[in-house]
Amino acid sequence: MSNCIFCKIISGEIPSATVYEDNDFKAIMDISPAVKGHVIILPKKHSADLFELEDDSAAKALIVARKIAKAIKEEINCDGINLLQNNGEVAGQTVFHFHIHLIPRYKQDKVEITWGHETYVDGEAVSLATAIAARI
Ligand code: 5GP
Ligand code: ZN
Repeated sequence: MSNCIFCKIISGEIPSATVYEDNDFKAIMDISPAVKGHVIILPKKHSADLFELEDDSAAKALIVARKIAKAIKEEINCDGINLLQNNGEVAGQTVFHFHIHLIPRYKQDKVEITWGHETYVDGEAVSLATAIAARI
């Protein structure tokens, strides 16, 4: 995609601090990290989001994420790591090339990943589960 900033990073047209690279993925330091050590994993083949991502890339992505998460944890000795992946503007996606965030966490960090809670009426969860299941 000629207009995509992550495609330009993957091709080397835009420089990045690279953490990992193989035939299918490049992982780089996020330019505006939530916490130092924040990495984003980019499949080399452009997909806008999870909905466009091919099964093969989806399967490999978690293997890459796990390798890098272990390396981050070993290097910076963080207390935990969040894997975060945004799809759609409403979900916080700002770059429309699928990517996974690895966000290191410390007990006293300033990251907030939080949500309120809705409740189901009787039978609603089962009926929604059935409807979703029918689409898989
Ligand atoms: P999103 O909000 O789409 O889930 O995440 C996009 C991420 O890409 C943001 O965390 C942002 O800081 C990062 N980002 C945007 N432009 C660049 C760039 O040019 N280089 C790097 N390394 N990261 C970028
Ligand atoms: Zn792209």
